[in-house]
Amino acid sequence: MKIYATDAESCFVDITEAVQALYDLAVGSMNFGSGFWTYEDAAPVLKLAKLMDWDADDELQKYADEKLFLTERAAYLSDNDLNAEKCLEGSQERIPTDGGYQLVTRWRVKKHDHAYSTTGQCMWYSCDAKEQDVPRR
Ligand SMILES: [Zn+2]
Repeated sequence: MKIYATDAESCFVDITEAVQALYDLAVGSMNFGSGFWTYEDAAPVLKLAKLMDWDADDELQKYADEKLFLTERAAYLSDNDLNAEKCLEGSQERIPTDGGYQLVTRWRVKKHDHAYSTTGQCMWYSCDAKEQDVPRR
């Protein structure tokens, strides 16, 4: 696979190496844990990596999916006026201690109809449900 641009005389020029150098620089300098790139930043780079079958596309896919999920979840929680208090319910349990017991609150997600993001994860606060057989983008 090659990447071409046209010069001033409308001649095709192979720029594959130049684009790959920029790709390597961008992906190599990318700290996946930092969250520096938005989904909109990562998506076209991912598209290029897949098209060219370059390294790091799995990592890029995971990064882009996580960014997309967080963006969609934030919008979903906001649109539905949901927060941790509305999504979680606590129950108190007695934990035995040396001198008697201690009350501990256990939190779990309230019953709800899962609302899946494009990436197949439920967008409810703290819900780990994943949709099965989500087609890959
Ligand atoms: Zn859920």
